[in-house]
Amino acid sequence: MGDILEVRDLCVDYDSPRGKVRAVNKVSFAIGKGEIFGLVGESGCGKSTTAFAISRLLRPPAQVSSGSIQLKGQELTHLPEKEFDHLRWSNISIILQSAMNNLNPVIKIQDQLIDAILAHKDISTEEAVKQAEYLLGLVDISANRLNNYPHELSGGMRQRVVIAMALALRPDLIIMDEPTTALDVVVQNGIIKKVLELQKEFDFSILFITHDLPLMLEICDRVGVMYAGKLVEVTKRETLLREARHPYTQGLLESFPPLKGKKKRLKGITGHTPDLVTPPSGCSFHPRCPFAMSTCKQEEPQILADNKGIVACHLYGKEGDGFEQLQAASEGNQ
Ligand code: SF4
Repeated sequence: MGDILEVRDLCVDYDSPRGKVRAVNKVSFAIGKGEIFGLVGESGCGKSTTAFAISRLLRPPAQVSSGSIQLKGQELTHLPEKEFDHLRWSNISIILQSAMNNLNPVIKIQDQLIDAILAHKDISTEEAVKQAEYLLGLVDISANRLNNYPHELSGGMRQRVVIAMALALRPDLIIMDEPTTALDVVVQNGIIKKVLELQKEFDFSILFITHDLPLMLEICDRVGVMYAGKLVEVTKRETLLREARHPYTQGLLESFPPLKGKKKRLKGITGHTPDLVTPPSGCSFHPRCPFAMSTCKQEEPQILADNKGIVACHLYGKEGDGFEQLQAASEGNQ
């Protein structure tokens, strides 16, 4: 699988009245063709900021301060705005949490769909309307809805329209930032099924952002876990379910009821996410980590990359594999 997106050492900073905030801190990952890669973590961990940096939707005072973002080998960070506009929709699309953030409330669905098509394709309006009808058909919406305004559709239908728009020019990568959070679970299920169906048909890659780990584990091939602006673990879905290594990932897994199998008592993660103006020293998770050692307060853990993925925690690496320690502690607590 060749990489569609490659993010290397990405840093995003905000200027706040209380000082500089590093919202994304040296984040690196790659997404292969046709791969669904998930970024998960609590609110404020930097996952949406990462998505906005990739799709160039960051607004001041936020800015990419360093690092590289490559889409099919093309560097995006220094690309002039006009050239980036050519890539929007045709190479990279984004679906936001609320469909109303993607759709203009005072413009009919048809005009919004054909606008995106005509901006990139040299075709007649009639042809663009035909394509818009086809796109609505892909997401199971009747063509006669083209004349509706967004408010005349249900929340689920609006999100389907947004998916149709994202697909209009067959992009290589679709970024989905909490695409179903605002919807009830039945509608959410329908949307996710439709996305997976379309992804199989058109083989685009997805960067899927959510705080809902069970949902992520249902659909993603690989998962990246973010904490306080850093990527602390990346691994395949199956590996994460079987042997999550980072204590934060373990805490997240224990915060949700299991999808299948025996019921177990939920534990959650004690404490709060850190203030990024004054982040904790060493490992930023140390104030909440049940395994914290003295070295965790002093030294930032290095990233260990091996055949299971990557993990940034002092339990791994030189001192040996801390997974057994985590497993024993987890079993003892059940
Ligand atoms: Fe916990 Fe230390 Fe690992 Fe951080 S480095 S997650 S504090 S064990």
